[in-house]
Amino acid sequence: MFDSFKKIFSGNEGDLPVTTTGKPDISREKSAELFEKAKTYFPGGVNSPVRAFKSVYGTPLFIQKGDGCHVWDADGNQFVDFCCSWGPLILGHNNAKVREKVIEVMQHGMSFGAPTALENDLAELILKNNKFIEKIRFVSSGTEAVMSAIRLARGYTKRDKILKFEGCYHGHVDALLVKAGSGLVTFGETSSAGIPKAFADETIVVSLNDRDALKKAFEEFKDQIAAVIIEPIPANNGLLLQEKEFLQFIREICTENKTLLIFDEVISGFRISFEGAAGYYQIKPDIITYGKIIGGGMPVGAYGASKEIMSNISPEGAVYQAGTLSGNPVAMGAGIAQLSELLRLGFYRDLNNKTEEFVASIQRFATARNYKFKVFSVGSIFWFAFTDLEHVRKAEEIDPTSMEKFKLMHRELLNRGIYLGPSGYEVGFISSAHTKVELEKAKRAIFESLDLVFRK
Ligand SMILES: *Cc1c(COP(=O)(O)O)cnc(C)c1O
Repeated sequence: MFDSFKKIFSGNEGDLPVTTTGKPDISREKSAELFEKAKTYFPGGVNSPVRAFKSVYGTPLFIQKGDGCHVWDADGNQFVDFCCSWGPLILGHNNAKVREKVIEVMQHGMSFGAPTALENDLAELILKNNKFIEKIRFVSSGTEAVMSAIRLARGYTKRDKILKFEGCYHGHVDALLVKAGSGLVTFGETSSAGIPKAFADETIVVSLNDRDALKKAFEEFKDQIAAVIIEPIPANNGLLLQEKEFLQFIREICTENKTLLIFDEVISGFRISFEGAAGYYQIKPDIITYGKIIGGGMPVGAYGASKEIMSNISPEGAVYQAGTLSGNPVAMGAGIAQLSELLRLGFYRDLNNKTEEFVASIQRFATARNYKFKVFSVGSIFWFAFTDLEHVRKAEEIDPTSMEKFKLMHRELLNRGIYLGPSGYEVGFISSAHTKVELEKAKRAIFESLDLVFRK
């Protein structure tokens, strides 16, 4: 046992706290073998960086199948999955309605590069049930949606600068892979190699929950800011829940300055409510981006706005945006099937209540034992934070050293059949397929893991 354990955790051997492990590590040999092979094919062995388990123990689990709230890895281990493909799977894995619709559509071919009725159907489903947008354009990922929304905002306002918030993630768009420099209002510094400084110079970065910084930015760059982009429910760097008043303040300052407000709802769209965070807070942005849930597990993104703003998109307007596989019929089918389920009466109420109970009972456990641990949550999104702050609203308020505790917890949870995204900065998701029984099981595993993490 120890040999394979050493092999799997090589690279972490020195800091592997063997003695705090309450359970033997599950077998991860097949996954480790697959990862060795994958490393010869892909940079870092993966096709998206966070999958590489750089922030937690061991090598990535290779998933063989998913059903309901469970996934199984290549070694045959079963887990209750709280990653849910990073959010898209709000109905859980292998949902029968989604699967059947996909199979039905696939019988007739997989792509035409010409319009299909399925695009109309998904658009109608969304637009009829969302008062914040009047027209939509489908693309193939969240990144693409954001990239297009920004081009649209720039084309519409005839301005170049974009303002974003530290701690919000908007996909791997060049102009948004920037982080704050020092100072209240700063031009971004690129957070990836390969991005021209000139691009980062068009992006202003300010802290979340900071009205003064926002005011100062609008003074300093008067009539230059095309758009302010925010995750209204920032959920890619912990769960940095904002006060409604702050979001309203952003809305007002944008309106005053004829700057467009973009809500990046790639995570929160169809998650917090069918109308996403815009509906939850009742704040109307000018452009909304979607991804993740909208495609039912297939690659779909979208951006929407008023008819007037959307009329600037080609071929109607001068802002060019296109896609060979945009509105792909199979992906549209998956989206239609999934979103139809979300419109059922009580869907969100049940999902959110279930999550609230789960989260509250974990918090009660941690509080009773005086653990420096908080579960933040909204709707069916939750985040485990090793902090004693009442609220965490800014990226700077997250203590990086607390991630060591998450790392321990992640391993203990895997050993107890619970799969969380492999980083303490990532949130967890609960789907309608998470049954009370499985959530109880997960709670017990979480309690045991917390006891081990905080054992001194
Ligand atoms: C996931 C995400 C993106 C990027 O979407 P991809 O489909 O991964 O390109 C953009 N914005 C937010 C808020 C996201 O959560």
